[in-house]
Amino acid sequence: MKRQEVLNVLKRQLRDKLNVAGDYPAEDELLDYVLADRWASVKEALLRAEEGLYGICADCGKNIALRRLKARPEAIRCMQCQSSKDQQRAKHEMRIRLAYA
Ligand SMILES: [Zn+2]
Repeated sequence: MKRQEVLNVLKRQLRDKLNVAGDYPAEDELLDYVLADRWASVKEALLRAEEGLYGICADCGKNIALRRLKARPEAIRCMQCQSSKDQQRAKHEMRIRLAYA
């Protein structure tokens, strides 16, 4: 995917997420949103590190794979738990969207 295509996908997702009709959000709004989301994850990972829980999945308690932590140091869930969390979130957002459609 080219840069503009990736940006358009992200903008569409953000527009849907924020339930904004009409124009795509501006690039700086998109960046703000992504950074805020990422920052919240970093803060959560730091809190877990203070409790001695860094690298331990918040859901199943197993070790998070080192490869995952290298790619995403703020990860608080293993891949499996994160995937199911993402699926739950997507279903929840879909239900909300349908309820307001
Ligand atoms: Zn897990």
